[in-house]
Amino acid sequence: MLISDKSKNTIDACRFCWMCRHICPIGNVTGQERNTARGRALSLSMVERGVELSFDIMENVYECALCGACTNDCATGFDPVEFTKAVRLEGALNGKTPEYINTLIDNIEVTGNPYGIKGIGIELKAEIGSLSESADVLFFLGVDARVKSPKSAINAIKLLKKAGVEFTVLTNEPDSGYFMDTLLGKAEETRQIMKNTAEILKNYKTVVAYDPADAKVFLREYKEWGIDVGANVKTFTSYLNELIKDGKLKPKKSNKTVVFQDPALLARDLEEIQEAREILNACVNTKEMLLFGKETVWAGSILMNEYLPKVMTLTAQARWKNALSTGADALVTASVSEYEILSKEKPENIELLSIEEIVLGGLE
Ligand code: SF4
Ligand code: SF4
Repeated sequence: MLISDKSKNTIDACRFCWMCRHICPIGNVTGQERNTARGRALSLSMVERGVELSFDIMENVYECALCGACTNDCATGFDPVEFTKAVRLEGALNGKTPEYINTLIDNIEVTGNPYGIKGIGIELKAEIGSLSESADVLFFLGVDARVKSPKSAINAIKLLKKAGVEFTVLTNEPDSGYFMDTLLGKAEETRQIMKNTAEILKNYKTVVAYDPADAKVFLREYKEWGIDVGANVKTFTSYLNELIKDGKLKPKKSNKTVVFQDPALLARDLEEIQEAREILNACVNTKEMLLFGKETVWAGSILMNEYLPKVMTLTAQARWKNALSTGADALVTASVSEYEILSKEKPENIELLSIEEIVLGGLE
């Protein structure tokens, strides 16, 4: 049997009650039951009973954003994210991974990122070059910021400089292992990347993870694998909040009213909800949009945009609809990935700002 006993038990734990149907960001925009946790559990339970793990079923396994909304809402405490990742690994071990996913995995092995981009841009390189090479604090930018959203990375570095933080950024920063963990699950390749990166993190007292995706793997997945990072790992938002509370950053409050897009990885996986709101309350007025905090709706990702661009357009549009209905002046993000996907679909009458742009604006 292709599916392991552990995954089988997890799949069997689904009661197919469909109480989670309304919260899947992918299922909601495609309108297809196959994209809900229930639909996926149904098809995998057939595989478990002898139906072939077809290309179509494997594709479906990669249509899940692993956003955890279904896990958070499941009536029976069932974890669809766990079995989805387990089936990705088992598919790979049996040569069933879709070719376009294999390309992303090959790219990670060759370039360190799933996009196959070599090196980083000149401006970001110069910004990193302006920092001291050794410091107690490592600011870990993450793959998406470095190769897909250098403007975000530069703004975040500028903000830490304004706070007078003595920190460094690695010129050749390795991947945290987030992408391999997402695409392959708990494979030996994933463990090896995490182990190598942990050896580098051990050289610092504090590691501030700019991307919630990296913070999540450092704080959760490394622990699960028994990989010691040594350093005290903090999310960027919690660190930024400390800097404001300690008076190292003193933003002036403006009349702008914003809504915050909770990154699922922060709000659900790391249960960090208040920090970003405290930062925003120091700078602007805040409102909440439909489904926030732990109930947040994932808005899209740069990674999935590589193979499901039309669906990412729809997930971003759906979240913009929620933001627009509040009448807020701006939607604020704390995830590079969501910032980039939302920016492609930004309506004219509302701003899109990252949390560092909000704080930088208050310092001007
Ligand atoms: S994932 Fe949970 S809520 Fe959804 S159908 Fe299965 S048991 Fe029901
Ligand atoms: S993890 Fe997110 S995208 Fe995947 S089935 Fe659950 S709610 Fe849908």
